[in-house]
Amino acid sequence: MNDHWPATMSEHTKTDGLPDVMPLALSEPVVLDKSRPRSERMASDKIECNACPVLCQISPGKTGACDRYANASGVLVRVDPVVLLRRTLEQDDAALVPFAARSDDSAAQAQANPLVAQNEVFVTGIGSSTTYPDYKPAPFIVASQRDGVDMVTVVTEGIFSYCSFKVKIDTDRWLGPEQANVRCKGEVVGHVSTAEYGSQMLSLGGVHHLTGGSKKEGRITCEMMLALGNKEAVELTIDGGSQITIQSGKAPIVNGVEEQRMRVGCGSATIGIFAKQFFGQADEVVVVDDHITGVLTQHQAGRCLDMRPSGIQIRGRKSTPGRYFQVANPGTGWGGTDIADPLSIIEGWDADVAWPGLKLLMVSTTGEHAAWYVLDEQLTPQPAAMPAAMQSVVERIGENCEPSLTTVLFLGGAGGSLRAGVTDNPVQLTRRIKQAMVNVTCGGAPAYVWPGGGITVMVDVMRMPDHSFGTVPTPAIVAPIEFSMRLDDYRALGGHMDRVRRLEDVLAGGGYKLIDAIAPNPWPLQGAAGSAS
Ligand code: SF4
Repeated sequence: MNDHWPATMSEHTKTDGLPDVMPLALSEPVVLDKSRPRSERMASDKIECNACPVLCQISPGKTGACDRYANASGVLVRVDPVVLLRRTLEQDDAALVPFAARSDDSAAQAQANPLVAQNEVFVTGIGSSTTYPDYKPAPFIVASQRDGVDMVTVVTEGIFSYCSFKVKIDTDRWLGPEQANVRCKGEVVGHVSTAEYGSQMLSLGGVHHLTGGSKKEGRITCEMMLALGNKEAVELTIDGGSQITIQSGKAPIVNGVEEQRMRVGCGSATIGIFAKQFFGQADEVVVVDDHITGVLTQHQAGRCLDMRPSGIQIRGRKSTPGRYFQVANPGTGWGGTDIADPLSIIEGWDADVAWPGLKLLMVSTTGEHAAWYVLDEQLTPQPAAMPAAMQSVVERIGENCEPSLTTVLFLGGAGGSLRAGVTDNPVQLTRRIKQAMVNVTCGGAPAYVWPGGGITVMVDVMRMPDHSFGTVPTPAIVAPIEFSMRLDDYRALGGHMDRVRRLEDVLAGGGYKLIDAIAPNPWPLQGAAGSAS
């Protein structure tokens, strides 16, 4: 490992007057910059924070506008501890290292902690602080080893003006028309996107709402995004649609009703899945769905089972055999339609084909709605008690529905100036990421990097530690981001080698918060360089 160290690293050359081990929290102030304050008239006991373009002038004992930095006795400090992930989940000593702990205590703890020796600790961007303007090296550039390979992780809290949240809401209930405005506290903060399979999608936040509208719109958008990212509940209204409450990892609440089930499939798929179980129990089955309503005897599944045609005539637009579009308007009733009476989608019966005594099941795509009918002599469906065997098939539909959840994905553009904190030649970072030589994580959670230009990352906020996100009043979202790679690759892409610090030196700085890595996440260094795991 040591063969690869830059000569300056072991010496911690103080080329810029900064301490060799950058302190991490209140107990160890972060000196961000020594530049001259922008305002000459600033009171002498105030200090100017230069961690973002707002340039707050902070009085002693106070925090800046984002509550992330404070003036502690004339020294600018980052209020929160940097969050470290510990790989071994079984150990039970994950605890907040007290802010008051001096570096000696933390160093002793680090040395006593075998995880440190095994490099089972990962420094995340949460609480790591931001560098501004961007040409400065990232706050932490941490060297470690992984299975004998020298690695480096560049860690920062990025300020994202270009970012949004993509929200997947598992429900058939109609939330609103596509492209409709989504509002929070009356302000437009996003829009309804395309409906997906069993889910309604929202696109929330984004640069246009953050910066392109009124000040209030930008502020409310930023607050809403912060809450969503930090796994808190958000109330929204959709123009021409529903009022919803959404929270990552929880069931959505639509018009005051908590959603229970995600549908088993569209109406056609439900027919296909359960056709054999319907067969012999009913003469006709209609699965009511806002998108594709299925009719068993006309559907290919019914034909394959050699079912007798029933003569049923369904409203809406026939697509292919046994599949109907637009049988009703969208809504919060049966199968995401606006109907409360399922018979309303039946136009009639072909008297030459249908017969008195025909047994009809009407059911929704979640099995939450179901009704049993028998045709009388006039071929009019009459409600009847559902046979137990058919009832158990309806229950089977419900059993196959997954719980309805809200999923929140953060989408951020890291292909801008943030890269200068990693390398003097930013395009090299972009290229190495595309070549899968650099693993990108957000708070240790795996980030999907979109193909094409730039570094557009997407991450499930449930896989990130709690309270990973912050804001600055520009307005913009603050999110952790880490770039992990082989040390050799970092050198080759023009990295800030003189700022690389050993993991043990970072730990010796103290003031960190050590938490267990989130179980389903791969260890962040596993994906780096592909072979270091
Ligand atoms: S908003 Fe926060 S980061 Fe920006 S200057 Fe003020 S205190 Fe510093």
